[in-house]
Amino acid sequence: MTQDQIKEVEELLKQPKSIAIIPHRNPDGDAIGSSLALWNYLKQKGHDATVVAPNDFPHFLKWIPGNENIKFFDKQNNQAKKALNKAEIIFLLDFNALHRIGDDMQKTVEKLDSKFIMIDHHQQPDTSITNLIYSDTSICSTSQMIYHFLEMLDATNMINAEMATAMYTGIMTDTGSFRFPSTTSTTHRIIASLIDKGADNAQIHNNIYDTNSFNRLQLLGKSLNNLRVVEASRTAYITLSQAELDAFNFQKGDTEGVVNYALSLENIVFAAIFIEDVEQKIIKMSFRSKGSFSVNQFARNHFNGGGHDNAAGGRSEMNLDATVTHFLSILPTYTNDLRKSDED
Ligand code: 5GP
Ligand code: MN
Repeated sequence: MTQDQIKEVEELLKQPKSIAIIPHRNPDGDAIGSSLALWNYLKQKGHDATVVAPNDFPHFLKWIPGNENIKFFDKQNNQAKKALNKAEIIFLLDFNALHRIGDDMQKTVEKLDSKFIMIDHHQQPDTSITNLIYSDTSICSTSQMIYHFLEMLDATNMINAEMATAMYTGIMTDTGSFRFPSTTSTTHRIIASLIDKGADNAQIHNNIYDTNSFNRLQLLGKSLNNLRVVEASRTAYITLSQAELDAFNFQKGDTEGVVNYALSLENIVFAAIFIEDVEQKIIKMSFRSKGSFSVNQFARNHFNGGGHDNAAGGRSEMNLDATVTHFLSILPTYTNDLRKSDED
């Protein structure tokens, strides 16, 4: 953000205002962590702030301080709309374009004449929404950006244990527990300061990673059974049909991280998971890569999606078999890129 933009934000936040904070649809740890950290700060400053999420989030995030105050646009439509309609300022967190909040919510949000502020680390932010955009694709997480945002506002002294916990969680989940290349020494310095401010690191890891249900682990077993390798393209992929999800009483978040097992195979640089969603009539995909092969570009080119260079998502309206067949038919085009993807 430029000095002028920071000044504008400071000016906007000077007097108590009605503020809404919106994370992306199917919010993950970073979307919820960054939203709740910012929410806590704004409440401390005397604003009437509400986090309005497009839809629900997984059970393993339902302990982050303040999560019980989040309103859901799909399930609590009246309350959510009320918070949006009265908002003088709307923060858009952890997404780059309004379609990421889903059709219904997008239609409502587009009509508002509130002042929008976007804070996000995805590529190609939609600059038509607002001139107040803090975008940096090199930063590992929106939660780390919230920390920097507070630095810009000279407000890190207001980080309490709840905010520290929320930001720690977002940074941890978006960096794969501090292992992705986006994790920098700055990230670690921020993490150290968040621990000093009261984030209980061992407890947070436990809350996120050691609260599996028996069914979730059995579904992971099924996923690993379904793992396939295309050696020539250094690619591995997993499929999960709706029937398989149903057999293990699938709950939101149960498939989070499963794609990383495909990427953990030696010599594999490109991993995909295809998950059937009968209700939405789509196949939801997650893509991961190692090195220079951009799954953001791949998802944009072929599967109506996007994300980051090494982690992206997309969707297909074909059935599961047809989607996988299509994926396998495109793969040879990228074989050369994939062969050299992890060479620096
Ligand atoms: P995941 O595979 O964990 O759902 O998402 C990986 C990354 O890609 C996240 O940063 C997520 O926000 C982004 N992403 C996932 N699905 C989509 C999509 O359909 N469109 C776009 N533009 N980004 C996506
Ligand atoms: Mn993120």
